[in-house]
Amino acid sequence: MTATLRPVSIGLPRVRATTDARDRPDSPELVDRFGRVARDLRVSITEKCSLRCTYCMPAEGLPSIPRQRLLSADEIVRLVGIAVRDLGVREVRFTGGEPLMRRDLEETIGGCAAAVPGIPLSMTTNAVGLEHRARGLVDAGLTRVNISLDTVDRAHFAELTRRDRLPSVLAGIRAAARAGLAPVKVNAVLMPETLVGAADLLQWCLDAGVHLRFIEEMPLDADQAWDRDAMVDAQRLLEVLGERFELAAVGRDDPAAPAEEWLVGGGPATVGIIASVTRNFCADCDRTRLTAEGTVRSCLFSDAETDLRAALRSGATDTELADLWRGAMWTKWAGHGIDSAGFAPPQRSMGAIGG
Ligand code: SAM
Ligand code: SF4
Repeated sequence: MTATLRPVSIGLPRVRATTDARDRPDSPELVDRFGRVARDLRVSITEKCSLRCTYCMPAEGLPSIPRQRLLSADEIVRLVGIAVRDLGVREVRFTGGEPLMRRDLEETIGGCAAAVPGIPLSMTTNAVGLEHRARGLVDAGLTRVNISLDTVDRAHFAELTRRDRLPSVLAGIRAAARAGLAPVKVNAVLMPETLVGAADLLQWCLDAGVHLRFIEEMPLDADQAWDRDAMVDAQRLLEVLGERFELAAVGRDDPAAPAEEWLVGGGPATVGIIASVTRNFCADCDRTRLTAEGTVRSCLFSDAETDLRAALRSGATDTELADLWRGAMWTKWAGHGIDSAGFAPPQRSMGAIGG
């Protein structure tokens, strides 16, 4: 049997030991060459996942990262502390892979809550099993949650995620709301399959009192099957939702907020649309990312990463780690360039970066 080579791996980013920070202004914050300042930190804590969404993971899952290569809970707490105290980060979101796959999630969140009191600590999750952990996570210090759900049709869900776990996800959403994680936001990735059930999904979210946002699919799938011409865009979604709901544009409260909001049926409920591809918001991007292996990644689409874990484990001080992070941000790309002629998807897929 011949083995087929597929572009499916945890990814081989170009890890830099140093960064060229010439011309960088003497600012303690995470500034880049385009005048943006990063205040929103995404921390991926694992590559593992309980689902296999086709737009993200390969069917067999990502190759497992050996435990010693993952940041420990204490290392995450230390880096989050540096990001907030020394670099001006104002919001921290845990992601993955699936953050609920880590048993020390509560410990990690508790440590961060103690290290950076008053800073919102949120999580992006698929909600499988959240039903049993929502209360404990709130007690640890979790303040908000974004839950991924693309359809409320069980067969469609099983097809899209390659797992029949819709009941657990719906129970997780309800448990999150009961535990006081407000507002609960639901994210759906726009695909032809999502479009078919988009109005039902919106109705379910309206009934459950949770806020739904649709996201245009980006070329971040491990299978590299994304196709610009076949992509469902925000405009098409609006046409489909418009057949069942009266929608009125509200716009964005904050330019760095990726979602454009639409009032549903005269309000007060809204639905958000994140047009990451057709109306990208790179010019206002305020994100910095830490991968599960402890590299800083300034843009989803740039494989250049800066290794904080190696520095941290060889005894770097907080000041040295903060300087490395500032250097990484200084070289952040202007934008994702999906529509430019030479565009190539990054080595790492969404699940390996941390969305
Ligand atoms: N497992 C968690 C979840 O699904 O919410 C957290 C990790 S997941 C990678 C983070 C977010 O990325 C989810 O909202 C997911 O829908 C989104 N995502 C994954 N692949 C994507 C893609 N190709 N385009 C757009 N969003 C994507
Ligand atoms: Fe897992 Fe989230 Fe990726 Fe789906 S989007 S496969 S739930 S990491």
